[in-house]
Amino acid sequence: MIRIAIDGPGGAGKSTIAKAVAKELGIDYIDTGAMYRAVGYKMKKEGISVDDEKRVGAMLEHTEIDFSGGDTLLDGTVVNEEIRTPEIAAAASACAALPAVRSKLVDLQRRMAQTKSVIMDGRDIGTNVLTDAEFKFYMTASAEERAKRRFDELIAKGDSVRYEDVLKDIEERDRNDMTRKLNPLRKAEDAIELDTTSMSISEVTDRIVSEIKRG
Ligand code: C5P
Repeated sequence: MIRIAIDGPGGAGKSTIAKAVAKELGIDYIDTGAMYRAVGYKMKKEGISVDDEKRVGAMLEHTEIDFSGGDTLLDGTVVNEEIRTPEIAAAASACAALPAVRSKLVDLQRRMAQTKSVIMDGRDIGTNVLTDAEFKFYMTASAEERAKRRFDELIAKGDSVRYEDVLKDIEERDRNDMTRKLNPLRKAEDAIELDTTSMSISEVTDRIVSEIKRG
């Protein structure tokens, strides 16, 4: 069994790369960001504020998040599209600072990785969720490059966004994720750092796969 942890800021290319590595190695991919997005989405839908920890706690007691064949399921319903908006990214980042949310999702993530080989991406995988993962990577890229990638993705989806707003959102989310008290984003001491600013998807994928094959 192998466990691979990939951490880094939003837009560094973690999920694209993790999916490609999972396919190449024939193992499962677990997108932990999608889990925080699903919680943020449900809070918005139910009108629950991040300041209302009591209601958040009550909501979490009857919240189920799962993955099936590449789909993200929230309480049994596929929410792949709904959770991929700038608004839900911000809601995810806000709810990710709450202890009740983190403890529920981290528990779930550890259980998902208990019985099978996985590649898991997020912000605290190497430093908290899977501290004993066999392989840890920390992917970065300049904020401008990450904003450009996100912007291109959103435009391709037909969203009308401005590059400046995407960059502002990315910088704000970086700040939230790096400065929160609980499990902030940082590189694990034993993680291999990859700056993907001027690397292609296949270059990064090949680099990770070759590290893993080398053992
Ligand atoms: O990776 P993605 O952009 O989908 O993550 C959305 C948000 O979820 C992040 O900005 C972060 O606040 C939170 N998150 C986290 N810990 C993880 C994964 C995501 O706090 N392991």
